[in-house]
Parts: sequence; structure tokens; C-alpha cells
Amino acid sequence: MEEQESPLLSYQQQAEDIRTDTSLRPRLLGDFIGQTALKDKLKIFIDAAKERKEAMDHLLLHGPPGLGKTSLAHVVAKELGVQVVSTSGPALEKSGDLAAILTNLNPHDILFVDEIHRLNRVVEETLYPALEDFHLDIVLGQGPSARVMKLNLPPFTLIGATTRAGQLTSPLMGRFGIVFRLDYYAPDALQMIIVRSAGILKCHIEMAGALEISKRARGTPRIANRLLRRVRDFAQVKAKGVISQTVAAQALDMLDVDHKGLDHMDRQLLRTIVEKFDGGPVGIETLASALSEERSTLEDVYEPYLIQNGFINRTNRGRVATALAYAHLGMAAPEAKKNDGQLTIF
Ligand code: ADP
Repeated sequence: MEEQESPLLSYQQQAEDIRTDTSLRPRLLGDFIGQTALKDKLKIFIDAAKERKEAMDHLLLHGPPGLGKTSLAHVVAKELGVQVVSTSGPALEKSGDLAAILTNLNPHDILFVDEIHRLNRVVEETLYPALEDFHLDIVLGQGPSARVMKLNLPPFTLIGATTRAGQLTSPLMGRFGIVFRLDYYAPDALQMIIVRSAGILKCHIEMAGALEISKRARGTPRIANRLLRRVRDFAQVKAKGVISQTVAAQALDMLDVDHKGLDHMDRQLLRTIVEKFDGGPVGIETLASALSEERSTLEDVYEPYLIQNGFINRTNRGRVATALAYAHLGMAAPEAKKNDGQLTIF
């Protein structure tokens, strides 16, 4: 078990999340915990659109997986009292797929496109006039006899979600009136999310138990909910169903999720930089092959949390382990290290 990568801390939706993700999803803005600044602004845009009886401006939500982008799209729809039709960038293969969805929307409905950075070029270009003034240019026929027919659409709101805002083309980016970034949640906000989820799952949790889970959940509600389900099983079998701080800590230790929310693979990554590459810098390709992992898995799954929490630094010459990484591994950090011509003090 020690040698295996744990899916427990994956940001991506796992098969087992799908059922509970839906039941735990916040319905209204009031149920959506944390992200206060974002919610305050969003409320104004929702109220303004309702008052004017218009479709809300197109909204782009970006940020790491599992932070509530899909949930927020549904919350906006509920608050506006409209339907939401969901699809994703890769699912829209042809312009016709997009046209079929758009022509079936009711006025002011929401089209939610997950992974919008993965839209193909042709579909993306079909989308531009739809976003600008609610029409589609349909090309009929081919060659010199081809004609363009203008098809009017009901006014709608596009909500795009992406983990990679940098990969959006600027014409597409420019067509979103509202752009919000979701950030990792602080432990107290995650604690509230866990308490709310525990209520829905009908399990008995103490505040300190929820806080213990929140500290190990990588700032991510999806992971918090997943850990809660596992701790609930442990509590049911070992602790009469009550999740106290001690029970949560014991369960998560057993699941190899440490007190900083790192699992076996995270620690392996840190240990590899420190032991095999003398603390770095080490290039991402080299690191990926040393760990027998895909470069993209390291970049998308493991690195963001380790960088955000100061365990590694990304430099021009590669990845470098920080003093925190050494401390976490229980190892002494070198006094000082030359790095990119600068002296890095550990
Ligand atoms: P994303 O679309 O960003 O990957 P989701 O919207 O699917 O994330 O969120 C994953 C799960 O986390 C949801 O099912 C929901 O239960 C929970 N969640 C996310 N954000 C919040 C929040 N702010 N308050 C309560 N629960 C949340």
C-alpha cells in the first residue's frame, strides 16, 4: 500500500465522488461557503440582470479542480431562476453540436461549458457571434455557391469553467464580461463545508473533527468531502459513528494523509528532489522520469499544492526543494545553496 499513489487526494472527480458531489452541491449562494469577495460581486451581477430582466453577462470561472466552479454555475442558474445546460469543451466536436444546444435554449438560460480551454477552433469561432449579439452564422453549401445564413438565438449566458485560463485564446477571453478566479479555501471555510456535508450525510461530527479533516484537504472542497466519507466509515466501525479530532486524525493517518495534506506520492516527489538531485534545481522532465510519472501529472496534480504551500519552488532551471520540504521529511536542510546566481538561504 505504501508504494501506491493514493487517489484520495486527487483534485479530479473520482467515480465515487459523482453520487455525493451532486447531493452535496450547494444550491443557493447562501449555501456556497467561502469565496466571499467573489460571491459579493456575483450577487450584484445576478440582481442587476434580474432587475433588468436580461441575460446575465458571460462569466468565466477559472481555478484548480474541485473548488466549486460547476457548483457555482448551478447556483447562478438557481438564483436567476433559469435552466442550465451543461457540456464540455471536448464534447462539442462540431459547430452543429453547439448550434443544436444554443437553438434549444430558453431566453436567459445558462450554457455551462466545462474545460472551455479545450474547445476546438471551429466551434470556438462559431461561438463568437453567439456571444456577441446572439446569432449564429450557418454556412449552407460548399465552394462558390456557399451562402451564410444568420440564425437568431435567444439571449443566453455562457458560463465557462477552466483550470487553464492561460490556454484560452484572447478573442474568447475578451468575450467574457465577468472573469473570476477561485482560490484554495482556508481551513475555517473548509471546516464549515465539512460540517454542512456531514449534516447532509447524516453523520455526527465535532467541530474539532471537521477542522482536522479541513487541514489535510489541500484547500479543496471536493477532497474535503472525500476525506469526510472515509473518516465517516472509520468512525462508524471504530468510534460509534462520532467524528472527533482524535478519530479524524487516526483515520487520516491510517489513510496515509499526513498533517499537511501530503500523501505518499507527494513525499516521494520531495524525497526524490532532495535525495537524488541534491535538493534541485531539477528539470521537470528529469523529475518525471525519476518518478515514472507523466510530466503533466506532476504539473497538474502534485506541483500546484506543493508550490502553493512552499514545499518546492519553480525556477528557470527546474524545481528546488525548500527548507519546509526538508523539515517535512525530517531532514536537515543545507545552510545555503547557490541557485540561479542567487543565494537561497534555507
Ligand atoms: P469544480 O467544478 O471546480 O471542479 P465542483 O463544483 O464540482 O468543482 O465542486 C466539487 C464539490 O465540492 C461539490 O460537489 C460540492 O459538494 C463541493 N463544493 C465546492 N465548493 C463548495 C462551496 N463553496 N461550498 C460548499 N461545497 C462546495
